[in-house]
Amino acid sequence: MAEMRVSAALIVLFALLTTMNGEKPYSFETTPGKLPKQVVPLEYSIRIVPNVAKLTFTGTETVKITASNAVREIVLNSAELEIVKASIDGVQFASDAIKVDPDNELLTIALPNELAVGEHSLALEFNGKITQKGRGLYYMPYQEQGTGAKKIALGTQFEPSDARRFFLCWDEPSFRARFQVTAVVPQNWLAVSNMPVEYEHKVEIGKEVRFQPTPSMSSYLNVFVAGELEAIETKVAGTQIRVIATKGKAEWGRYALESTAQILQYYDDYFGVRYPLPQLDQIAIPGGFGGAMENWGGITYYESTLLFDPKKSSAATRQRIYEVIAHETAHQWFGDLVTMAWWDNLWLNEGFASWMGSKCSAHFNPDWEVWLAKNIQRDPTRRSGIAKEVAMEGDATSTTHAIQQPVANESEANSAFDDITYRKGQSFLRMLESFLGENVFRDGIRRYIAAHKYSNSTTADLWNALSEASNEPVGEIAAAWTEQPGFPIVILKRDGDKISLSQERFTVNFPNAPALEWKIPLTYFIVGEKKIESRLMNGKIDNVPNVPTDRVIKLNANGTGNYRVQYDSASWKALLGALPKLNLADRVNLLCDSWALVQANRANVSLYLELIDKLPRGHELAERDQIVNVFDYINRLLVGNPAREKFQACARSILRPTFDEVGWEPKKNESPRDSLLRASLIAALGDLNDQEIVSGCKKRFEKFIVDPASLAPDLRASVFMVVGQNADEATWNKLHELGLKTTSIEEKQNYYDALTAARDPKLAENALQISLTDELPTSRALHNVGKVARYSGHPDLAWEFSKANMKALLEKTDALGANIFAPSLFVFSSEKSRADELNTYAKSNLPATSAKEVAKAVDEVEFRAEFKQRLGPQLTAWIEQRGLVSSSR
Ligand SMILES: [Zn+2]
Repeated sequence: MAEMRVSAALIVLFALLTTMNGEKPYSFETTPGKLPKQVVPLEYSIRIVPNVAKLTFTGTETVKITASNAVREIVLNSAELEIVKASIDGVQFASDAIKVDPDNELLTIALPNELAVGEHSLALEFNGKITQKGRGLYYMPYQEQGTGAKKIALGTQFEPSDARRFFLCWDEPSFRARFQVTAVVPQNWLAVSNMPVEYEHKVEIGKEVRFQPTPSMSSYLNVFVAGELEAIETKVAGTQIRVIATKGKAEWGRYALESTAQILQYYDDYFGVRYPLPQLDQIAIPGGFGGAMENWGGITYYESTLLFDPKKSSAATRQRIYEVIAHETAHQWFGDLVTMAWWDNLWLNEGFASWMGSKCSAHFNPDWEVWLAKNIQRDPTRRSGIAKEVAMEGDATSTTHAIQQPVANESEANSAFDDITYRKGQSFLRMLESFLGENVFRDGIRRYIAAHKYSNSTTADLWNALSEASNEPVGEIAAAWTEQPGFPIVILKRDGDKISLSQERFTVNFPNAPALEWKIPLTYFIVGEKKIESRLMNGKIDNVPNVPTDRVIKLNANGTGNYRVQYDSASWKALLGALPKLNLADRVNLLCDSWALVQANRANVSLYLELIDKLPRGHELAERDQIVNVFDYINRLLVGNPAREKFQACARSILRPTFDEVGWEPKKNESPRDSLLRASLIAALGDLNDQEIVSGCKKRFEKFIVDPASLAPDLRASVFMVVGQNADEATWNKLHELGLKTTSIEEKQNYYDALTAARDPKLAENALQISLTDELPTSRALHNVGKVARYSGHPDLAWEFSKANMKALLEKTDALGANIFAPSLFVFSSEKSRADELNTYAKSNLPATSAKEVAKAVDEVEFRAEFKQRLGPQLTAWIEQRGLVSSSR
């Protein structure tokens, strides 16, 4: 183990040295990967026959390949496929010519003679398995809408490297080819793939469906979904858009269908290249894997991120659906039409799609305050997922990494799907866009898409296109942001009209962090004036000219920049005095920055709490939700700490007046944000033991059981949660019964989340047992355990249960989930001994691929242990000094 660490460190160091030299534009030959590049696939024709009863499938394929050199072997990818036969240009190979290397997932075919330069035809026959994991071809058991009958559907999930479990292929993103899929399915099934159906005819065991061939694309973007499905459809500028769901549910895709039509037209214009495929299917899957995947022309979504039932779904669900569709649809260009060359550039795909999706969502839904929500990580569903660390928080710690990170192989690619890739990527692009200007930035993107369509690219290609469009040295500005970890804090010191700035690396719980420097696209304004100034902070120190002594300055206008700011105390006081003149985005930015300073031990918690006290009256969602998030964090941190009760009382006294302003009942013509705020405050106050709120929730739940329409869909998740938290056995069983009965995945999730929140340890134990049943879709069963760890206040129970059932639990998840699962159960702990326990457990029980996640969780637990010590006394002192009732609100 120790030896492995040394060599891994050397590899990282070497890779770091090479990448910091600046990345090169895309070339196929120099792209990393395991596969030799002398033989490449051009066209695949694949026929799959699933056997649902036996959970196996048989496959045949013909691949047109081309050899650029005379070679003696052909190397391609294969994982858990059994090879039956192989031939080239009609000549069959002897069985000893075929070698499988399961560790590297490679298949090598030794050729009897040298393969001549030019085109050849490779034919293969194989068998594979259908599993419940979201890897390769999977099956999804579900209850049919209306009848409740138990059914099974099939689906695929390939990113990053599981297409090789479905058919034999060159499964690295730069090996683009055309794919034609044929499948045999039962007569009453609907089968979908990336392209429209070319023909369908009856065969003995059902029907054979052949899809049209795709354009040139990467293997991981293939898709195949089949089952008793139905569709609704529309047409936009020649593209057929469908929403597909299991029978009885397609009508709930109406909102997704309309949203897709709107989003597609926006992107057609933005990218300057029309959507290139004849179809765009949005497919709701009732299990299998838990997210959404941008397969070209056939995007898959976990059902509750696509379907909206106007009678039962909440405003938060509606918003999430739009944002996920906008993200995945952006990938159709950025990711699918142009694909990153290798997984070290995954951020190009994900950072960009996150940014583009948010931009599009914000454009059509100004009411949602999309960017503000991103800044505070206000996830409308934060109560239904395993909480992840916020990108800027994670990026300040010792376990962070550069946006562009070396990825040696596919299993490392799995761990690249993290917050840094998605959220820092998005945040950096937003900062860059606001620095270069919206139109210039769009022109750069258009150049990039036009230059690389149907091909691959690197980050350098994007910077080159943006440089050409802007005449700015974008690559130079971007280098420090994408090629080194972390981000800066800008420290402002003022002496009369002389304002000096300096930058440092911003860190949390990371003593002796290597010092780094950034070129910072800085913005600032003088309070009361409209104009936002911008300048590039090129070095360690800088100054801001021409600010009159009596005027107040604020840096990072609207919080668009990916940096923190610390003001000297006079400038901070002046800002506090000017709060009513700042807009919401700037106030939220100050809240975020001051809380970060407290975490980083650069300030006492009084800095943050005093700011809250000085905020103007009102109930702005983003502002209040930032506070709710921080209070939630503190409340969990202080479990077992003497300061906790006092803190809870103090937190209630701050949040309750806001709730009294919005009230229990929706008001006529209120903003959708008020509805979200109401739900957020109910859950928060319930969690903080506000007894009036708790009994209010119980009362409403009783009424809901008799008359479901009496409880607004927006409030259901929160009310059930509070009821679940305080449930006795009878109430818990009632929630369980309701969860078992419903066929709506969203509704089901609300009930089961409430079950996990039970504070009664016996009931928490019951909630854990559910994870081993098939009551929940496979991909969600594990989340159930994480939620018990988080909500019930019994993380220890969740961990003991997991240790005892680890194997059965991991069977239910994909590669990403397997790496994260065990560490994720620890991140709510704040005892140092828990960090040691995780380390010890990981050494002998977890795969090496989970090392990064283990390190992150250990760092988080150690930080929390330290923070808890520091925060308790600071809070007590502040509360005593302030007094509970002195609040102006
Ligand atoms: Zn994505």
